[in-house]
Amino acid sequence: MTLSLRDVAVAYDGVEAIREVSLDLPDGQVLAVLGPSGSGKSTLLRAIAGLEPAKGTIAWDGRDLGGVPTHKRGFALMFQDGQLFAHLSVAANVAYPLKLRRTPRAERQRRVAELLTLVGLEGYDGRLPGTLSGGERQRVALARALAVEPRLLLLDEPLSALDAGLRERLAADLRAILVAAGTTALLVTHDQEEAYAVADRLAVVRDGHLVQEGPVAEVWRQPADAATALFLGYARVLTGAAAAAVCAAAGVATDGPVAVAVRRSALVLAEDGPLSGVVVSARVTPDQLRLVVDVEGVGEVDAVAGTTAHPGPGERVRLRAEQARLSIVP
Ligand code: ADP
Ligand code: MG
Repeated sequence: MTLSLRDVAVAYDGVEAIREVSLDLPDGQVLAVLGPSGSGKSTLLRAIAGLEPAKGTIAWDGRDLGGVPTHKRGFALMFQDGQLFAHLSVAANVAYPLKLRRTPRAERQRRVAELLTLVGLEGYDGRLPGTLSGGERQRVALARALAVEPRLLLLDEPLSALDAGLRERLAADLRAILVAAGTTALLVTHDQEEAYAVADRLAVVRDGHLVQEGPVAEVWRQPADAATALFLGYARVLTGAAAAAVCAAAGVATDGPVAVAVRRSALVLAEDGPLSGVVVSARVTPDQLRLVVDVEGVGEVDAVAGTTAHPGPGERVRLRAEQARLSIVP
């Protein structure tokens, strides 16, 4: 284990923004701290960085970091706006932390070239930040954060200022770069897709509490509760007769009453499907027909079909449920 937190709490003016947070971050892994705006993510990151006084224990390799100032923790930080020095070139920005450490010039140049290659900015050495796109600026900020080989990289919404398409591509690149560098990292984000694309593990926070923590696939398959399932991106959480009907249609055996989280594409048009309903609306996309179907005993659900089927509003259809796209939640 590298980073471990025990009962960490931070209060502003007597009001706790985070409380009872305990978690361990294994060496070389990327943990996404995922939660809605105001849930305490940045506060947690600032506490780990030593920028916010915290109760409880924050330790590295078993050593309590209480009283260790930020610059002596061996961590690097990166924020939503990379906070580059506008008057320094790309190379000088990346070299800056190495210069502070008095790394010899030749070694510095070698390392800057290596880092710019790592983040896909070969040949950008002489450019000024003002001439770069938002995505390029964040790549420079990442290279600068990695320059001193931090034992932990703390990233606070590093991609949030970018537009959606670019964010998606850069998320994949960010994961590749962190894996290539072997960096242990903690990524704070409100964006589920970003968390899934970048992280090995997820810590879901809500109202200052850690709701669930574990490997990404595990958290996704087994959300801690209904609110977490919806936040993770499930389309609906069904209860009562509706949950029982959908589980039965998917061949999922249930033991008494359950709640079931349903993905958007969990229900599929099928002539011999066990659920019957009436089409409320139908929308054609290039590769799918997306339906809203009012199913007896269930209510309105999203369903998908291939584009060869064209049931229109008011038409009766049958659906089956895909087991792999349902999760029972407590
Ligand atoms: P997130 O990063 O998840 O959006 P934050 O950690 O920034 O959330 O904030 C969590 C809560 O703490 C919010 O209610 C916020 O208003 C409050 N908060 C954050 N920073 C301060 C501060 N410096 N002073 C007082 N309250 C703060
Ligand atoms: Mg924040």
